[in-house]
Amino acid sequence: MRLLLVEDDAMIGESVRTGLQQDGFAVDWVQDGRAAELALESNPYDTLLLDLGLPRKAGLEVLAGLRRRGNTIPVLILTARDAVADRVKGLDAGADDYLVKPFDLEELAARVRALLRRKSGRADPVVQVGKLAINPATHEVSLDGKPVSLSAREFALIHALAERPGVVYSRAQLEEKLYGWGQEVESNTVEVYVHSLRRKLGADFIQNVRGVGYMVPKQP
Ligand code: CA
Repeated sequence: MRLLLVEDDAMIGESVRTGLQQDGFAVDWVQDGRAAELALESNPYDTLLLDLGLPRKAGLEVLAGLRRRGNTIPVLILTARDAVADRVKGLDAGADDYLVKPFDLEELAARVRALLRRKSGRADPVVQVGKLAINPATHEVSLDGKPVSLSAREFALIHALAERPGVVYSRAQLEEKLYGWGQEVESNTVEVYVHSLRRKLGADFIQNVRGVGYMVPKQP
């Protein structure tokens, strides 16, 4: 899952990015409102983490513009403790949740998972496709009740596919979910991970739609 973090405080930005990356998210970080808009125009993010006090364009304006354009990305705003009015404005402008600074990174990751859950219309914290169960919070994966050991990238790939069974993702779309800016994308990387996932989960689990991409088929 790929997130955009908009935060002009370098220390907070760096620690949030590092913390969420350790949690398995691909994170792009920008430091002003205008850069946030440019990034949102050119990349498909799964969630936006938005500070409100930002140079060049205020967070609330970025948010209002997004919603005006019909963008439904889940948005979590990051605000100062004394800024109750801003939090209310943010929620009323279309934010889905907020966190007050300073916040705990584990709580932030849990709130992001909750937003991603709601985005996929799922109340169960565990992603289930047939016999496969994926827990985004603990990174535990099991097949028919037996634990399966996956690398961080394998986990990110199967999580993205299993979250939307029946939806075909191109290789480029999957690479975008696996890597943030500045992370070297090796060639054939998606093919390599698909290959090892098929070995661990069964050959039919991920289907190759020729010329289009990959999907996890819907299971009865
Ligand atoms: Ca700020």
